[in-house]
Amino acid sequence: MIKALFAASDADWRTYKAALNAAFEKVGLEVDLSRSHAAQEVSYMVYAPSGPLQDFSPYVNCKAVLSLWAGVERIVGNQSLTQPLARMVDPSMAQGMMEYVVAQVLRHHLGMDRYLRGQDGVWRHGEMPPVAQDSPITVLGLGELGRFAGLALSSLGFPVRGWSRTKREVDGIVCYHGDEGLAAALKGTRGIVLLLPATAGTENILNANTLALPAKGAFIVNPGRGTLIDDTALLAAIETGQIGGATLDVFRTEPLPKDHPYWSNPKVTVTPHIAAFTRPDSACDVIAENMRRSEAGEPLLYLVDRKRGY
Ligand code: NAP
Repeated sequence: MIKALFAASDADWRTYKAALNAAFEKVGLEVDLSRSHAAQEVSYMVYAPSGPLQDFSPYVNCKAVLSLWAGVERIVGNQSLTQPLARMVDPSMAQGMMEYVVAQVLRHHLGMDRYLRGQDGVWRHGEMPPVAQDSPITVLGLGELGRFAGLALSSLGFPVRGWSRTKREVDGIVCYHGDEGLAAALKGTRGIVLLLPATAGTENILNANTLALPAKGAFIVNPGRGTLIDDTALLAAIETGQIGGATLDVFRTEPLPKDHPYWSNPKVTVTPHIAAFTRPDSACDVIAENMRRSEAGEPLLYLVDRKRGY
């Protein structure tokens, strides 16, 4: 019997216990999943930073830490973590993220707020809405989530540009990479979607300089991480009209403090980190498959590169 420790919050335990056990059974593994195994007996850890566990050093026989979260910035720098770390790549999460991104891009692209906020009896017939073909959108981050969202936008007719750290090729997306590719990816674009991880290399990637590159009035959608944006620079760019609107799902401090200027800015929509959730049924299949692979001596999926930071 494989001993697996569930190291996450009480709420997560209630959500995941039955679904994980069902997923282990599906792949033919006999797993004793518990919240209280003796550290030395633990062969796998199902982990989320929502729980109290911070010191991984007693888990000397743990073959892998399997995270329930896609983002790893709260665990990747933990010096006590020497075991392989796999992050969550959940197809249902990618679907949820794609829907969030498409909804926000279409809303900003069509200028829907002027109607939603202007239900005042005035018949505003004058302006012709743009069409997707005329509105290039740039997706920063061409990973599991960025690629899927970018391809959905491309299928709607948007010219989509993507940007990554290393060179990528994605049919339907004009790809740029590296520091030297960033300006070309952003220049003249009408919308920016941020789907980068929080690392030292991505901090403040949208700043006073890069926010000056898109077309005047361009919009920002950030379901990536709060650290990707220099908040002061974004508010200044909104003030001058260089940036026409922003939908922000993630922040440096969460929950976003009540007095943060984003809350009261009419050009900013705050959503409370709801862009994409890990869905228990599909996510548990991913955890179980990785455990099966490890037991069979096959390489783990979605391993995090500690040096790279994601
Ligand atoms: P991923 O598969 O690891 O992809 C990350 C992408 O970012 C890759 O294309 C990578 O480039 C690129 N990148 C990383 N560092 C870079 C740098 N310095 N310069 C340029 N590109 C860089 O991640 P994912 O699964 O798509 O998830 C993306 C992020 O979404 C997560 O890290 C998390 O922060 C966020 N997220 C948010 C929610 C929410 O509800 N708001 C939910 C899930 C995830 P390479 O392709 O060259 O490696």
